[in-house]
Amino acid sequence: MFDLQQKIKSLAKEQAASVIANRRHLHTNPELSFEEFKTAQFVAEELRALGLTPQEGIAGTGLVALIEGKNPGKKIVGLRADMDALPIVEANDGPYKSQVPGVMHACGHDVHTASLLGTARILNQIKDQFEGTIKLVFQPAEEKAPGGASLMIKEGVLENPRPISMMGQHVAPNIPVGKIGFREGMYMASTDELYVTVIGKGGHAAAPDQLIDPILIASHIVVALQQIISRYRKPSNPAVLSFGRFIADGVTNVIPNEVTLQGTWRCMDEQWREDGLKKMKKMAEGMAEAMGGSCVFEIVKGYPFLKNHPELTRRVRSAATEYMGVENIVDLDLWMAGEDFAFYSQVVDSCFYRLGTRNEAKGIISGVHTPTFDVDETSLEIAPGLMSWLAIAELAC
Ligand SMILES: [Zn+2]
Ligand SMILES: [Zn+2]
Repeated sequence: MFDLQQKIKSLAKEQAASVIANRRHLHTNPELSFEEFKTAQFVAEELRALGLTPQEGIAGTGLVALIEGKNPGKKIVGLRADMDALPIVEANDGPYKSQVPGVMHACGHDVHTASLLGTARILNQIKDQFEGTIKLVFQPAEEKAPGGASLMIKEGVLENPRPISMMGQHVAPNIPVGKIGFREGMYMASTDELYVTVIGKGGHAAAPDQLIDPILIASHIVVALQQIISRYRKPSNPAVLSFGRFIADGVTNVIPNEVTLQGTWRCMDEQWREDGLKKMKKMAEGMAEAMGGSCVFEIVKGYPFLKNHPELTRRVRSAATEYMGVENIVDLDLWMAGEDFAFYSQVVDSCFYRLGTRNEAKGIISGVHTPTFDVDETSLEIAPGLMSWLAIAELAC
């Protein structure tokens, strides 16, 4: 295996410049969720140039391709990249600035796609040196509900052949380039959206006795719902409830008829996710009724929580340690953001790890989803070889 690792490292080095060129091409030509037409075409052409036969048009723009080693049915490992960009105006300048007005690869999905293409090229060159099959999954729309992953799964991406495990990576602007982050078990949150309308009876603010004040009711609801977190939640079970919109469109002397609230509910346990939503709805409706008003509590379900299968993650981490050195492996904190890779993790053993992309010396420090986001492209010299090695180690175990 040591020789194979050296081989992968030298192949990764040879093709680093072309991986970076691919990333720049994608970064210059970003496409929004479910509209990754040119991106998918680019990926398909790259895969065909390797002699692979991509299956196209899954969930719209998604693609799947297989790299078969010796004894291809022995074991199948899936590797996933997301391809979509965000509706953000890029504020960076430079040779690979977005050429599409108002669209930017501000979450690093250009890096993930270019990296997986690089991984495909490496694995394809050494396919006579491993047993089993690599399933490459390029998916649309990580950033937009219902999530490209959920649609790809519905269209059978985890069947025929069924991967025994899935791996995915994500850029990490908070982790220095050269380092890789892992976390076993719960890692990222389920995300549900809450749309609440509190209905009262508006009128002159000087005569509250003749009104039903929806502002007071909504205020009570916002405060009371936090008790779901403080009193009903098992302390070991992470959860966040935040309201970011509270609209009461009256004036100093006019109380409005209704108030609208919008919020987000995030947790890391599917049962608790449902229980919490039920409790919130009941509490909000009951409170509005007790105060003489009413309340419409609407829930828009988002992604499930992302769990990194413990044993798989331990194995992948140990393979990454062999490849990178123990000093370059870091522990990840829980992160209450959502990620549609979570859908895979609900179906097959999965491992989602972080690729360090920060470089303070070069001023590359902006967070994802910001107009100044960028990555240290040195990360692209690491990522394809690393993922190749992790996949091969997993096939071999
Ligand atoms: Zn994102
Ligand atoms: Zn992302």
